[in-house]
Amino acid sequence: MECWGVGSDDVGTDSAHPQRARSRLESMSTPEPSIFSRIISREIPADIVAETNELIAFRDVSPKAPVHLLVVPKTQAYSNVVELAAGDPGLLAKMVALANELAIEHASGDFRLVFNTGSEAGQSVFHVHAHVLAGGLDEGTLAG
Ligand code: AMP
Repeated sequence: MECWGVGSDDVGTDSAHPQRARSRLESMSTPEPSIFSRIISREIPADIVAETNELIAFRDVSPKAPVHLLVVPKTQAYSNVVELAAGDPGLLAKMVALANELAIEHASGDFRLVFNTGSEAGQSVFHVHAHVLAGGLDEGTLAG
């Protein structure tokens, strides 16, 4: 489901209209890397706590719980958990399994898993990620 890069065979061959060909190329080119992709590529630093072939986990820079980790697929093909569940449910299951392992390693094993989905729900990074919240949570903080 990755749709990065230029894939079409006739892109850029509009020799009669080079400007049009160029703008088609630009509109189909690789999307900007998300802030999480820039962490994955080590372009920007993060406190990384786990990494696999498909996932990375690091501490949230603005923690909302004693333990606040983000579990992020390395692909940025899915902008939210609904897309991920439809496109690659196995990868979603791996995110949940890694969240469980991290909660055992960094806290008691109990944890809350949050997928903000849409800006009105607080999503600010449109590269799917799970918030792993642990370390003693107050039930009253579930929404706010
Ligand atoms: P959301 O608001 O659900 O999209 O979550 C995005 C999360 O990413 C927020 O909790 C931010 O604090 C966190 N975040 C943004 N930039 C960074 C960063 N460079 N390192 C770690 N966490 C970050």
